[in-house]
Amino acid sequence: MDVDKKRESVNEQLQNSAKTGYDLLMQSESIHRKEWRYTGDKNNFSEHCRNHASMDGVVIPKADSFELIGLDGKKYYPKFPRDPILPEEERISCVCFLQGITSDSMFGMTYEERKHRTQQYINDLADERPDWEKELDAKNRAKAGIEPEGMLPTRTREMQIRAPEGYKLLEEANLRLDKLERNFRKDVEGSIVEALAAVKMIPGVSTYQQAITLKRLADCYYANEHYHEALDYYTAAHLLYDKLPVKRRIEELTIMTGGL
Ligand SMILES: [Zn+2]
Repeated sequence: MDVDKKRESVNEQLQNSAKTGYDLLMQSESIHRKEWRYTGDKNNFSEHCRNHASMDGVVIPKADSFELIGLDGKKYYPKFPRDPILPEEERISCVCFLQGITSDSMFGMTYEERKHRTQQYINDLADERPDWEKELDAKNRAKAGIEPEGMLPTRTREMQIRAPEGYKLLEEANLRLDKLERNFRKDVEGSIVEALAAVKMIPGVSTYQQAITLKRLADCYYANEHYHEALDYYTAAHLLYDKLPVKRRIEELTIMTGGL
């Protein structure tokens, strides 16, 4: 592939991903506004869409169009960076992205309502899994010494022999998570984060059990609107155990936190 062809194909990919990101954002009920983000270097102008630097941080309702002054001095009204309505010079080499902003009213719900919705969401995700996946899950849980009902890890004799310190820490983290689920306190959160970081360093602790504990922490962050932390811990949980039903949550949070 020659250089021009390659560049063309990269641009095409960028444009498609911008459109996909915009479509997802439009579908999301929790996102009501959008923000234009410029990722080029403002101090050291590269060839990347430097005339978009002034668009950085512009927030508008999600169905509205941005007002962009083009390199040709004309005004354009794109819905998102690299919108196909823009002339080529505004799209090629554009490294901007669209960030979704969650509506305040959506989260004006009480904590209990939100928790209820979160739980419903989790249940829905669990039900969507194919049967073979649920079966495999049940088998893995049994192997790891976990009760089929409820996602709480339990210690077995074998585990205690393999990595006693690791399982002790994991158990403590889960006891503290019981507290954190009732009342989100910074000091409790901190002690869980520390315990989980320590568990990670100890060989022999089941990655599945670590993953469900990470997911519990992520659920707490999510319910308390700490979306960046929630995304980090859902992602970490998914990396440890990729059958965990968190993929859609990760997608949702990626949009909400602007990782498009
Ligand atoms: Zn740009």
